Amino acid sequence: MILGVDIGGTNTDVVLLKNEDFEVIGTFKTREFDLSKIDVDYEAIGIGIAVWFKKGKPVGAPNLERIPKIETDKPRIVENDAKCFAYYSAKVTGKNNVLSLTVGTGIGTGIVLGGKLYKGDGLAGELGHSYVGGRRKCKCGGYGHLECYFGGWAIKDVKEKLENEAIYDTKGFKLFCIAIANAIMLLNPEIVTFGGRIGGRLNEQVISEEVSKLIPEVFKPEFRVIKDDYAVAKGSALLAKDLLKV
Ligand SMILES: [Zn+2]
Repeated sequence: MILGVDIGGTNTDVVLLKNEDFEVIGTFKTREFDLSKIDVDYEAIGIGIAVWFKKGKPVGAPNLERIPKIETDKPRIVENDAKCFAYYSAKVTGKNNVLSLTVGTGIGTGIVLGGKLYKGDGLAGELGHSYVGGRRKCKCGGYGHLECYFGGWAIKDVKEKLENEAIYDTKGFKLFCIAIANAIMLLNPEIVTFGGRIGGRLNEQVISEEVSKLIPEVFKPEFRVIKDDYAVAKGSALLAKDLLKV
């Protein structure tokens, strides 16, 4: 029994992994979340959070006001939320080489290569903070990053734009597709998955058509939107499960 926790800016999701199945424990307000009040028995805990980790140490959290304390005496793993999402994407799609993007308040990236999470020196990915042009100020302190055009904090009337599909006509969406195309040429993933409050509501067909215009046909991966609000929590539990095996 492994607990999976997704700590977001507003809400915290908790799931329990029992053998191969997930049970949703609940969604809590992050500022009120108290792990000691979760009344379930577990052997290990995985925590996904929108924090940059380098060599296991938090080194930044551009879109999180504060990092809550999680106190437990059980084995635990704490990992960037988009990396947890990528790991879950690999398991749920059965693919070994996966590029994942989460679009919510910010844009997260996760990479799975050969079935393993690829982290580089800890921060690998982060397409949201790759330079796409201009001098717009980013939450991370940089300029002209993809997030400045396509992060939830940067898109005006995002809900409406998703509903009437105007989002696909924005400069931000074009830049998003260019960043994905460049990442595909670097990594040659079998599949690109999308998640998050905005990313989980995008149309994978539209993304596929737009990105395909930018890359040679032979590089074209599958594109899939993972419509599961608990994907990060589930991915963190799966990472913790692998930690126990070692
Ligand atoms: Zn940035």
